[in-house]
This record gives sequence, structure tokens and C-alpha cells, in this order.
Amino acid sequence: MSYKITLLPGDGVGPEVTSAAVKVLAATGIDIEWEIVDIGESAIKKHGTPLPDIALESLRRNKIGLKGPVTTPIGSGFRSVNVALRQKLDLYACVRPARSIAGEGTRYEGIDLVIVREATEGLYSGVEHWMDEQHSGAVTENIITRKKCERIVRYAFEYARREKRKRVTGVHKANIMKFTGGLFQEVFREVSKGYPEIIADERLVDNICMQLVKKPAEYDVIVTTNLFGDILSDLTAGLAGGLGVAPGGNIGNEIALFEPVHGSAPKYAGQDKVNPVAEILSTELMLKHLGEGKAAEKIWNAVVEVIKEKKVVTYDLALPGYTSRPVKPSKCSEMAAEIARKVAKA
Ligand code: NAD
Repeated sequence: MSYKITLLPGDGVGPEVTSAAVKVLAATGIDIEWEIVDIGESAIKKHGTPLPDIALESLRRNKIGLKGPVTTPIGSGFRSVNVALRQKLDLYACVRPARSIAGEGTRYEGIDLVIVREATEGLYSGVEHWMDEQHSGAVTENIITRKKCERIVRYAFEYARREKRKRVTGVHKANIMKFTGGLFQEVFREVSKGYPEIIADERLVDNICMQLVKKPAEYDVIVTTNLFGDILSDLTAGLAGGLGVAPGGNIGNEIALFEPVHGSAPKYAGQDKVNPVAEILSTELMLKHLGEGKAAEKIWNAVVEVIKEKKVVTYDLALPGYTSRPVKPSKCSEMAAEIARKVAKA
């Protein structure tokens, strides 16, 4: 089968890691026609906006996309392209698996969990204002609706059922945020009743941070609201091998857009230095979504093998904490070529 897929290389290290992922995908032999559209810095230069309509149109047409990270200015400037893509295309489920693959020498073993983060409302709704003309205070509204809580919690339980996972943990802060946290908790309890074969439990967000660091292997599927999911998925990425190996998918009812958890890492842009695995494993998730399970498995096995061998790995996997012996770091393109070689041989 052949596919037409939207490719959004992004900015910073985005073009390097997406080009690496495209090479690995090519090694699977799957016929893909890429529709490449600029977003982020290069789109500002070409179209005067970081998110041109042609990017949204391409995704609406192809229904599937692969994306590199995009820089968001801090404090002022344009709103996040990533948040806008999720909101405009209603990509409500941000699915971020964390699996221990850092190999020999890694700090945490046996992690195989998935963060399911609501990605269209909450504190990322973009409703903010100053309290007065002197800017003596500011307010960000945390918009939580019953409909969107139900949709994300149901997605998490359906995911658990489909993937034969045993437990779904709802994460909130209902003790302090009685309305917004309370609503999420109420809906979590209601929806969980429809899935008696799956263990449903809850954690306060502060408590789960401690639990995840102490015993991450005990967690399975974690479902939560937007900001908590954003923070927790960076934490679990760190536990399972770092941002360099953490993939993700933004899933809606019609469109799915796959991208790594990490950002544009501007200080490394253009150096052919960062780990391509997070972007490569985002293509593994994309292939599974397309029903191309065999090709997805080839990519997963090749990544695990290359990381276990620790002969051709980027700087982040050569650091203490991810290896117990000295390893000479390879370039992003070298590691991708090694993974592609193993995929082609499989
Ligand atoms: P970042 O994820 O870009 O980088 C933080 C650090 O993590 C880097 O300095 C580097 O040490 C490490 N890192 C990241 N990716 C790596 C990789 N592939 N291999 C090895 N190490 C890697 O986070 P940041 O510096 O907070 O954000 C930079 C920009 O990216 C910001 O503008 C932010 O808004 C944006 N961002 C975009 C996305 C996205 O596009 N989905 C996600 C997060 C952050």
C-alpha cells in the first residue's frame, strides 16, 4: 500500500531529526509520498506566519503527518504552533509512551508506560489577561469541560483495552482545584465503570511525581489534563532514557500527527548532534496507527539493537547514567544510518 503523508520538518533540530526519520522509514520499503510544508521559523520567512494555512490544509487532506519540533518564543511573541495545531485540528489525545530502551547502564529499567494527555483545553486554552493596567497580576484560565474530560478518559481506557494493558491511573489535583480537578475526577470514576477488566486508580499530581521516580515500572497508562501531561511526559522521558528517545502522537478522530516529546533544542541546531530516535520512534507509532505493524516492529527492533550495542549512539546516550562504560558519541545522521541499515536487513 502507498501513503501520502504531510511532513512538517519544523525548526531548530527539527529538519535534522525528520530527515533522519524519513531515511529510516525508506528502509522499511513502504511507499510514502511526502508533502513537505514549512512551519516555524522558515514559514515566517516564506509566508509571514509560523503556521500557514497550507500546513493545516495538507493535514486535513492527508489525515496523517510527521512533525519535527518548533520553537515557541517565551513570554511574548506568537502563540505556540504546537498548541495551535492540536487545537485547530482537534488532535485531543497526546499519546506519549515511555519505554526503557537506554540499554546497559541506564538508571531505570522495566519502564513501559504511556501518558495520555488531553491536548485541547485546560491551562493551554490561551485565555489570559492582566488583572489591571499596571500589570500587578495576571490570570490564566484553566478551562476543563465534561465533554473533553470524558473524551480523553474514554480514549485512555479504549487504548488500554486495545493494547491489552492492565491499569489506567487518573492524575489530577482535585484536593486543591475542587472545580476543575473535581470534574476530571468525577468523569474518570464514571467512565472507568465501563471497563471492569482494567484496574482504575487515581493519584494527585504531586504524589505521582514522587511515585514515578521511586517505582516507575509499576505504572501502565496514565491519563491527565493538558499541563500535568506535558510535565509528566518530560519526567517519564527522562526516566526511560531521556528526551532523545521519547516519541509521541497527537491523535484526533480523523487526523493523527506524530512528533517527538522534545523541543527544537536551538543550541544544537545544525550540528548533526542530537539523538534522532525520538523522531524515528514517532514514525514507529505512525506505522502502527496505519496498520503497518510489521514495519513498525522492524524499526523498534533496530532502535533497541543499536542502543543496546552502544557502538553508534549520540552524545546523550554516551553520558553517565545511560552507560557504564566510555562510549564515543556519534552524529545524528550516523546513528540514523545505522538504524536504517538494520531495518533494511530485517
Ligand atoms: P528541548 O526539548 O528543545 O531541549 C531541552 C534539552 O533536552 C536540550 O538542550 C538537550 O539537552 C535535550 N534534548 C532535546 N532533544 C534532544 C534530542 N533529540 N537528543 C538529545 N538531547 C535532546 O526543550 P527547551 O529547550 O525547553 O525548548 C526549546 C524550544 O522548543 C522552545 O521554544 C519550546 O517552546 C519548544 N518546544 C517545542 C515542542 C514541540 O515542537 N512539540 C516541544 C517542547 C518544546
